[in-house]
Amino acid sequence: MNRTLKIFAVALVFAGVLHGGTAVAQETATPTTREMNYLCWQEFGELVPEAINTVLVPLGSLEPHGVIPNGTDNLAPESMARDIAVRTNALIAPTLNYGITPAMEAYPGAVSISSKTYRGFVSDMLNSLADNQFQNIILLNGHGGNTAALQSLVTEISNSKKVRILLVNWWSLTSDISQGIFGDIGGHAASNETAYLQASYPEHIHSERYSQDMTMTTDASWSASPVPYTISLYVDGEGYPTFDQGQ
Ligand SMILES: [Zn+2]
Repeated sequence: MNRTLKIFAVALVFAGVLHGGTAVAQETATPTTREMNYLCWQEFGELVPEAINTVLVPLGSLEPHGVIPNGTDNLAPESMARDIAVRTNALIAPTLNYGITPAMEAYPGAVSISSKTYRGFVSDMLNSLADNQFQNIILLNGHGGNTAALQSLVTEISNSKKVRILLVNWWSLTSDISQGIFGDIGGHAASNETAYLQASYPEHIHSERYSQDMTMTTDASWSASPVPYTISLYVDGEGYPTFDQGQ
């Protein structure tokens, strides 16, 4: 099972089985687009909630990623949302392109949002999506720094708005697939993330700029800011980007 299919499977179980199978039954809806950015309000009103009651929300960050785009954490979940929207009968909310990344803020092109601001903004966003009558909100997270804030909001807003919210951290969900393909579980801007971006945006991968001294292993015994590397490996000596198009 490839990584997008695995995310699709989790999303479908969430949106369909937990909802008595209605997500599958509703697949007769034929919107002119799945992207909320491009829908007019009249069509949105016709679709939600009668024909579509699930929304995919990509969330990421703008920060250095070795030799792949600063927006990798936005582009990966956005691609996944496009891949699974029809199969989950969902709309796609505009990507939240900024996240919590204070230890990488010093790098060129990085932008970090404070945890307090981020949490407040996402809370308002999710409350408003629920007010738009989505019953299933699937958060496709591309950035580890957002996870704690998002986790706390999942329960809080699910309970207060009586909606179902699923948070998916794709790099964790697909670690077994990464192991199968690369023989390792990857890391930040490592084998798995680089390969995903290479599959979707090969023109923006700069393997000619890569050197192994950009990598370091994540280790709980120390921390530093700015982070002194832009590729972090989850396991020492494993997970280097391969730039192998076949993988
Ligand atoms: Zn990333």
